[in-house]
Amino acid sequence: GSTIGILGGGQLGRMLAVAAAQLGFKVHIYAPDAESVAAEVAAHHSQAAWDDESRLAAFAAACDIVTFEFENVPVDTVRFLSGHVAVHPGAKALEIAQDRLAEKTFVAGLGGRTAPFASVPDRAALDTALGGIGAPAILKTVRMGYDGKGQARLAATEDADAAWEAIGRHAAILEGFVAFEHEFSVILVRGIDGEIRYWDSTVNVHEGGILATASLPPPPVVADQQDEARAMMAGIAAALDYVGVLTGEFFATDAGPVFNEMAPRVHNSGHWTIEGAVASQFENHIRAIAGLPLGSTATRQLPVVMRNLIGADIAAIPALLADGNCHVHHYSKTEVRDGRKLGHATWAGAAPGASPA
Ligand code: ATP
Ligand code: MG
Ligand code: MG
Repeated sequence: GSTIGILGGGQLGRMLAVAAAQLGFKVHIYAPDAESVAAEVAAHHSQAAWDDESRLAAFAAACDIVTFEFENVPVDTVRFLSGHVAVHPGAKALEIAQDRLAEKTFVAGLGGRTAPFASVPDRAALDTALGGIGAPAILKTVRMGYDGKGQARLAATEDADAAWEAIGRHAAILEGFVAFEHEFSVILVRGIDGEIRYWDSTVNVHEGGILATASLPPPPVVADQQDEARAMMAGIAAALDYVGVLTGEFFATDAGPVFNEMAPRVHNSGHWTIEGAVASQFENHIRAIAGLPLGSTATRQLPVVMRNLIGADIAAIPALLADGNCHVHHYSKTEVRDGRKLGHATWAGAAPGASPA
């Protein structure tokens, strides 16, 4: 059998590995981040390992196909590996998704609808950008943000100093604040031959900047805007000659779907597909990168609810296990921190708390 290499050691990689194993692949994980060491030490170790060409070459030699589960794998690491082994998706998609400014510029260039945005390389540029976009607005670091970290909201132009300090004076993007009704995602898989399949769009609810739930069926406005959002994502995937699972996050607005950001990988809002769809995002990502026929993305049965277990939520697991309809996923992370995603629970074809069939 062939061997799949996964860059990154988080829960997404673990779920990809389970899907790969089911299809008969061996899996190697390249995961330089040691959970147990102090953050600064981990960052140091991590960069050295991503740059270590002899370790990377040995990893490439042991794998037939390489993919990534972590969008901040250095682009140079993926470029280096691409010289030794097939890597899907490619470096271009990763490079664009790592840079919010490049990402929005790219999507707007393809005709996609985004919030108004402007580059904010320094403090002076923030005033210029605010002059054009106006308040309310949202300032985001160009690189490295996740779960709403590295963002500051500006209710009025007077908030500029505080916002610039809050994001640590890093190169940023200013975005007009989008008045949205709901957030949703489009998750697609694109095969090596260019075939695209989509899972149904969940409505995504965030609490404190972190995804809390993804549910089906979505409200009508999301269902109505799904096709236009899909068309945007299909254009992006084709322009990148993308292979694998690609996610787009959208706002449903009066003007139609507004693209927020993309992830060149499987996505938290797609975890429901493990039990709720015929083929999960993890299985189809493996099928796509391995050049196998894609599985059906159809939803098995409504309703579907995926709830993240964040920080102290992990204590709810015994109660969730007592709900016979609940599929519990525990990520086995050694460090329990507030705001950290430690697991998730999925109800597919049943509502949370309904008595087991
Ligand atoms: P993720 O964990 O999804 O990668 P992130 O840190 O990359 O998050 P975004 O997805 O850009 O950040 O923003 C986080 C949340 O903040 C969004 O899901 C949305 O609720 C809100 N938000 C972001 N940009 C805007 C905007 N321009 N207008 C209104 N709300 C926004
Ligand atoms: Mg993001
Ligand atoms: Mg997001």
